[in-house]
Amino acid sequence: MTVEMNGTEADLHPGRVVEIDRTLKSSGIALTPGMPICQTDLPIDWYQEELKPYAEEYLALPDRTPEAVLPWMDRYIVPALNRLGDSVMLLAHFYMGGEIVKLVERYGGFISDSYVLALQAVQNPHKTHFVESAVHFMAETIALLKHDHQSVWITNPKSGCTMEALAKEDMVLPVFNELHARYGDDLLTIVYMNASGRVKAFAGKTGGAVCTSSNAQVIMRWAKAQNKKILFIPDRHLGENSGRAVGIPREKMVEWPGGWEGARRRMAHLSAAELDSLDKAELVLWGSFCGVHTIFETAHVKYWQERGYRVVVHPESTYEVVAAADGYGSTNYLWNAVLNAKPGEKLAIGTEGHFVKNARDLAKARGVEVVHLADIPDPRFPSMGCGCATMSRNDPPHLVGLLDLLSRGKAPELNRVLSGDSVDETTGWRERLDPRSQEEIRRDARKALEKMIELTEAARK
Ligand code: SF4
Repeated sequence: MTVEMNGTEADLHPGRVVEIDRTLKSSGIALTPGMPICQTDLPIDWYQEELKPYAEEYLALPDRTPEAVLPWMDRYIVPALNRLGDSVMLLAHFYMGGEIVKLVERYGGFISDSYVLALQAVQNPHKTHFVESAVHFMAETIALLKHDHQSVWITNPKSGCTMEALAKEDMVLPVFNELHARYGDDLLTIVYMNASGRVKAFAGKTGGAVCTSSNAQVIMRWAKAQNKKILFIPDRHLGENSGRAVGIPREKMVEWPGGWEGARRRMAHLSAAELDSLDKAELVLWGSFCGVHTIFETAHVKYWQERGYRVVVHPESTYEVVAAADGYGSTNYLWNAVLNAKPGEKLAIGTEGHFVKNARDLAKARGVEVVHLADIPDPRFPSMGCGCATMSRNDPPHLVGLLDLLSRGKAPELNRVLSGDSVDETTGWRERLDPRSQEEIRRDARKALEKMIELTEAARK
């Protein structure tokens, strides 16, 4: 595979054979961070050919009430689950719209954060099919850890992550190579879960680890104790927040731009002062970010605190917001903050919009008030739609269609997730590696995932 880099073609992966599946066509809809799709219907040309018949039926339903949608879903899913028996496990992430979360649960599925989801195949060896309604890197992580007899499916392969899209393997590799050439074994890479298996493999190659937002500080503390230069990919905010939490001062951190800008930057472009900072840095932050979590500002935090709300935020938010909040932590931390709140308490939560909506419904029944941190009823604050638009692409027709086809042995190959698969979230095109390269990615990424599991479980004891 060759890529255009600084005007010259560089062979980045000699010997690797890649097959590209272009059966999905782009609708041309531009994805912007924070786009409020929020579980609304997708245009028909956003569905794979195999799923269009289901989407057409769904779009023809009179409305989106449970009375209209559930009988239609039951008609396909109940017989499909009967055919599949105990072999299948349905999974979804907390950030899915309440509707899908509730639907997946209705059909016996399981909802959690990315750490817990990643472990499901390995912890359930008697299950053979895992059907995931969440983003692609989450499904791929299950595939990296699964047993050989198991298969992993994603309901919509176009369900990508904007943070991951700014840290594709071909963007990170040239930088990783330069850093590795300069710092050798002194370089240790931590890769946040929100990256492809190909990027997670960089962590395995340098004796590093994967992390999630729930264990980032555990992994960062372990890395810092080794006195190495830490390369943190892809989220610069989680990297900075975790680094500061374990005692790395800001002046010992350097940010490398994310995306193609970062890929094109070379050490030879750095000034003497920049190179000196890089040499002295304890932490190098790859400059990607989540458009959903970086909309929050300290003014939002102050607004709700002044009105008696406790503010809790996700650490993909900026350091300033995290520092101003009353608490911060992973998706599970935020969920537990709601579960443990006392009746009469008021919480403002800074994270993904669907999650907050789900939390608000849960809290209301318990006499707890939950608001979205950026949802401020004051014209001085512009209204912000901030659900994870890419994750929301897993709508009811995707779940219905995939389960029906899977149960009849006709699941589209595009929905199968293997180690090293890379999907373009705009076009839906998927690059699949040859079996030898898949195995290499699996070996290295697994090493980093297993290191994360070892450190996380040890920290719990
Ligand atoms: S919320 Fe942000 S980081 Fe999480 S999956 Fe969506 S785009 Fe990616």
